[in-house]
Order: sequence, then C-alpha cells, then structure tokens
Amino acid sequence: MSKRDYYEILGVERDASEKDIKKAYRRVAMKYHPDRNPDDKDAEDKFKEASEAYEVLSDSQTRAAYDQYGHDAVSGNAGAGGFGAGGAGNFSDIFGDVFGDIFGGGGGRRGPARGSDLRYNLDIDLEEAVKGTEVKIRVPTLVSCDTCNGTGAKKGSSPVTCTTCGGAGQVRMQQGFFSVQQTCPNCRGTGKIISDPCEKCYGQGRVEETKTLSVKVPPGVDTGDRIRLGGEGEASPDGGPSGDLFVQINVREHRIFERDGKHLYCEVPISFIDAALGGELEVPTLDGRVKLKIPMETQTGKLFRLRGKGVAPVRGGSTGDLLCRVVVETPVNLNKRQKELLKELQESFDETDNQQSPRKSSWFEGVKNFFDDMKI
Ligand SMILES: [Zn+2]
Ligand SMILES: [Zn+2]
Repeated sequence: MSKRDYYEILGVERDASEKDIKKAYRRVAMKYHPDRNPDDKDAEDKFKEASEAYEVLSDSQTRAAYDQYGHDAVSGNAGAGGFGAGGAGNFSDIFGDVFGDIFGGGGGRRGPARGSDLRYNLDIDLEEAVKGTEVKIRVPTLVSCDTCNGTGAKKGSSPVTCTTCGGAGQVRMQQGFFSVQQTCPNCRGTGKIISDPCEKCYGQGRVEETKTLSVKVPPGVDTGDRIRLGGEGEASPDGGPSGDLFVQINVREHRIFERDGKHLYCEVPISFIDAALGGELEVPTLDGRVKLKIPMETQTGKLFRLRGKGVAPVRGGSTGDLLCRVVVETPVNLNKRQKELLKELQESFDETDNQQSPRKSSWFEGVKNFFDDMKI
C-alpha cells in the first residue's frame, strides 16, 4: 500500500508556507469532514489522509524529516526496516489473517496495548487428527527486545513522558469551527518519547524472531478447530500483554476414508461371486485390518457398520462408527472359458425364470405397465 504524497494531498507546493499549509488543510478537511459527508467512506478516508498530512507538515521538525526521507521517516517505522506495519504485512501473507485489528492496535487507547494475535494454518493427516499428535511449528513473530526489556530505550536511559500530549497519546486540535482528536504527532500515540533508542530494536521495543513452538494436537480434532497458545502471539508494542497464537487445523484428504464428524466412510469393492455366495472380507480401519462378514445375496451399495471404529470426538461423547459401503464389481478381462461359464450360468437362470434377478424382473414389469397405461 503506497501512500500519497502529503503535499499532493493538501494541494500545495513543496515550498508552501506554514500559513498556506494550514489554509489548504482547512479547505480539504472542511470539504471531507464526516459531519458534512455522513456515511461516505471515501470522504472519511480523504479526511483522515488530510489530517495525517497536516499532522506531519504543520510541524517543522516532522516536515523536515518527511522532506528528506519520505513517509518512512514519519510513519512510526523510522529506521526499523521491515518492522511495524511492514512486518505485520508480511505476517498476514504467512498466516492468512492477523487479528490485530480486533485485539491489538487501534486508536484512542489508554494504557499499554495487547500484542496482536496470530494465526497459523496447520495441515495434518487424518490419522494424526484421530489419534492426536505433537508437531513443531516455526512462527515468525515480534518478541519483546531483550536488550532494552521492551522499552525501546538504550541501556541506562528510559523513555520519558511525551510533553505534547502528557502521555495520553492523543491530542485535540482546533480547526476552525470543529476540533479533532488526533494521534499525538510528537510521540505517535505511544505517550512516550525515546531520546536515546536501543540499538538492537531501533527504539521499537520489539524484534522480529522466528519461534519454534511445540503444539499438542489432541485426539479427535477436525478441520476448522482452533488450538489457542496463550501469550504466543506478537509482543505488545508498549509493555502490555502479548497476543495469542491460534493454530487452525486443516485435516488433509485421506486415500481411503472420508470423514463426516465422528463417523468414517469407505468403499469396499467385492466380486459378484462373493456378493452372491457371501464371504469374509478384510476391511481397513485406522487401527489396522478387521474381518467383515458379508452375507449371501448382498446387493451393491449396502452399508456395513463397524461400531466404534470411527473417531472419538475431541469435545467428548461416544466414538463414531466406520461405515463400509459395498460396491459389487462387474468382472472384466474375461477369457473364453470364463465367458462360456457365464453364458451357461445365464442359460440356467433362464430355465428358472430368472428368479435370480427379482429387482430386474419387477423393474421391467413396471416399465411395461407404464407404456400400457400411456396407450389409454
Ligand atoms: Zn531494544
Ligand atoms: Zn505525545
């Protein structure tokens, strides 16, 4: 997200006088003031943009810094390449979502802020989800700087309360007929001034670090479940509590089993001979193979339930079942002899009036009746 030039926002030349900047800001701010543009997001953004531009250009020190170094000098990330807002951007790429907007950050706060929460997407196999596992994950995050103990101030010095805002982090500015609450331009909302910044964290109080964490995944978890690691999110920017890390579970698809809550499903192909005569099959479960008795005259699609061979839910309750769906397979690659045997078998069926296929017979009967009825 690239920022617009502050002079351009206010519509003034780079050598504009303080008075001209003030006049220009008043003009832009009045045009886009929320009171005059209710429910207009675009106007609100423009108003904020103008306020920010004025905040910087109205102060000769921050204006000089901006002239020389651009937005980086005044956006709160000075000299801390890759930290702050930029760093958070990188994290959201890795984690999908950073919940900083909900918990951490935010304007108008009093006292230290909580660090941002982080999300980590963890893919695990079905076996791991069912039996539980422990995995090591590597999480890039912001941790409290150990050189300055998170204060951002060099050893031997300490931050002093900002005199502009008296430590509140916010100032009220009178602009013509309205006044606006703004982030203090002197301390940028922290309420503190660090005159001698820590050399390790450049005064940020936090440093980027990749933590290796051990995550205990309890048995029975499913896609969408979240495991909370309290205090393992980002460190607070100003000495408050750290955020939390949420490990979001995603269970990979399995070659054999399909999962629906606590029940598992699988398809078991059987030969038409086994289906007709009955027999014993070996079917897979997550605990190994078990024998499954197939009664004679089993039709395709029949479900066999193996009680307790499903998943024990992570939130308690009875263990689910494994449901095996039998699929009768039509024989292929028949040789001459086999074809002869099948033809012979068919002839013997004909001799017994095809009582071996009651469903087929009744279906044809139904079709015949259907056409007979249409003739009327
Ligand atoms: Zn430090
Ligand atoms: Zn201040």
